[in-house]
Amino acid sequence: MVIVVGSGAGGAIISLELARAGIPVKIIEKGPSIKPKKAHEYYDSSEEGMDLLKTTCVGGSTLVAAGNGLRVLESELKDMGVDISLELDEIEDDLNVGPMPDTHFGKGTKILMESAKSLGIPVQKMPKFIRSADCKPCGKCSFGCPKNAKWSAADFIANAADLGAELISETEVKDLLVKDGKVSGVKVIKNSEEIDFQSEVVILAPGAIETPRLLQKVGIEAGKTFFMDTFITVGGILKNVGFKDEIQMNALIIMENFILSPHFSTFLSQQLKNKGAKDKDIIGFMIKIKDELSGYVDLNKVSKTNTLRDVRFLAEGAALAGAILVEAGVNPDTIISTHPRGAHPGGTAAIGDLVNENLETSISGLYVADASVLPTAPGAPPILTIMALSKRLSKHIISKYG
Ligand SMILES: Cc1cc2nc3c(=O)[nH]c(=O)nc-3n(C[C@H](O)[C@H](O)[C@H](O)COP(=O)(O)OP(=O)(O)OC[C@H]3O[C@@H](n4cnc5c(N)ncnc54)[C@H](O)[C@@H]3O)c2cc1C
Repeated sequence: MVIVVGSGAGGAIISLELARAGIPVKIIEKGPSIKPKKAHEYYDSSEEGMDLLKTTCVGGSTLVAAGNGLRVLESELKDMGVDISLELDEIEDDLNVGPMPDTHFGKGTKILMESAKSLGIPVQKMPKFIRSADCKPCGKCSFGCPKNAKWSAADFIANAADLGAELISETEVKDLLVKDGKVSGVKVIKNSEEIDFQSEVVILAPGAIETPRLLQKVGIEAGKTFFMDTFITVGGILKNVGFKDEIQMNALIIMENFILSPHFSTFLSQQLKNKGAKDKDIIGFMIKIKDELSGYVDLNKVSKTNTLRDVRFLAEGAALAGAILVEAGVNPDTIISTHPRGAHPGGTAAIGDLVNENLETSISGLYVADASVLPTAPGAPPILTIMALSKRLSKHIISKYG
């Protein structure tokens, strides 16, 4: 029997693959099973002094994802002896990743794409894992899809359960059980009661904040490095554009040090209210960077310093976003920025540092299959790569223990 801790991007696919192979799986998830449209109620409160977005529920942060499906860090991982190209192909097929049809591009996104093109900046449609036939554009992807049109890891957990995997939700893994250098199970808290579950194979996928904390408790020095793909949203007023209700991040500009993607933020409308703007008048770009691994996670704190390089990349992205917004007709006097935020925590138990190329830690039978293992910040949506690493691990587990 294999225990999988966490049911998000990393935890769901390995649970499904093991269940498909007939291996008994126990999935232990801290959050409850919820309707996708309620996902915004399950955001965690942010750490003091920083704005880090993630959710606690079955399916993890994939429920609030924008549905962006990019292949990231593929060549970097290959250079480290971890080839995930086949798994990425398989996942892109399974999730039907591709651009949305023209019917699903709103006025604001089209204006931004045309303005970028007229400035000679290459812009493409964002590949999405959203079923366009079910999607009625509403701008609510990151609140949880009201139409259930977006793939989420909860779909794979349901498939795994159909194949016999046992989902134990609303149960927090508090500790790992280790004996003679080998993992022997996990300690959980359910309804204020402590219970031990035994297993000689434990896959950690509770995300890049919880994984290092569990590893630290068993003496592994995880969490000394941390990235979050820092982002800001820069925007201004374009009267009656109605951008807020469009599919967010439906286009993509890839530059060397950052990406840009059309994005609405309520932080912009809060600040622009004093200039008479309503939500329907706001248009903007997200600027997302490959931040340095300058953060850390310990049992009490998550910390991320924006290094000089991080600030430079954000400033370069803001400058480009401003130029495109002005070309789109936004009054430069109205252009403002949000504070820096993060939605892709990772790098806290990196491959080549704390896990080997099979994602195994120094404790035999204890593996990591979430964003913790990413060796560096992708500066772009990581779900497909986390899933591909996890799927690759499932093949290793099946060949070793199946
Ligand atoms: C608003 C938003 C939009 C995003 N959009 C995109 C996008 O469009 N494309 C993309 O690629 N990425 C996107 N991301 C990032 C992506 O969602 C995450 O990088 C990814 O889900 C991380 O996968 P994971 O497996 O590491 O963690 P998660 O998916 O967060 O899963 C961790 C799971 O573990 C559970 N858990 C935590 N602690 C414990 C514990 N102690 N015991 C048991 N269970 C536990 C959690 O409840 C959760 O279910 C977005 C993120 C946010 C917040």
